[in-house]
Amino acid sequence: MLTENYKKVIETINEACRRCGRSPEEVTLIAVTKMAYLEDLKQAAALGINNFGANRVQDAANQIAVLPRARWHFIGHLQTNKVKDVLPIYRSIQTLDRHSLAKMLQRCAERFDRVAEVLIQVNISGEESKYGLAPEDLPGFLKEISYFDRIKVRGLMTIAPFFDDAEAVRPYFKKLRQLRDRNAESEAELPELSMGMTNDYGVAIEEGATLVRIGSALFDRADS
Ligand SMILES: *Cc1c(COP(=O)(O)O)cnc(C)c1O
Repeated sequence: MLTENYKKVIETINEACRRCGRSPEEVTLIAVTKMAYLEDLKQAAALGINNFGANRVQDAANQIAVLPRARWHFIGHLQTNKVKDVLPIYRSIQTLDRHSLAKMLQRCAERFDRVAEVLIQVNISGEESKYGLAPEDLPGFLKEISYFDRIKVRGLMTIAPFFDDAEAVRPYFKKLRQLRDRNAESEAELPELSMGMTNDYGVAIEEGATLVRIGSALFDRADS
């Protein structure tokens, strides 16, 4: 089941890359584990998946114990008091969205003597239910956190609104990419765009996604 799902996902990624003339090597699959069983995880790693995304510190602890050597990315809303638990374990934190969190990341990174690799979460759609910085606040925020020498901003992340028709999501992905282009001297300065989930990752890749976060297409057993 997972093997089949994985094949389909890889095919979809490759096809999307072909459509827009990108190399599949530019796109990293992050397997989002909130619906995964522990036995799925081992199988996923055996298939060659080595990047995983987790939403909740507590729920993910058991999963990380199964695959401690994989690269784990934190993609959920992060409470300031959880930073000390997340920072030593996760390869990146994709949901930096406020100054207080940056302050805590800097403080903990100093304490653990490491650099926090982060993406800034942007609320492109402006939906009230979503976390993330307003696009117009990004320039100021980037400036503020440039003073935190233990925080390395690798790019931007967004959670797009859900539409049945993936084409309807395209403008939001485009906006995230344009926002990056406006706020970076060069693409290399903010290289990562984390956007695209099960319903729309083909379109996200066409619009420049470098990290796609995929859960149900891999782990959903509803139709098995
Ligand atoms: C659950 C989740 C995903 C994966 O969603 P699917 O539609 O199941 O692929 C991606 N990103 C975030 C932040 C999530 O919470």
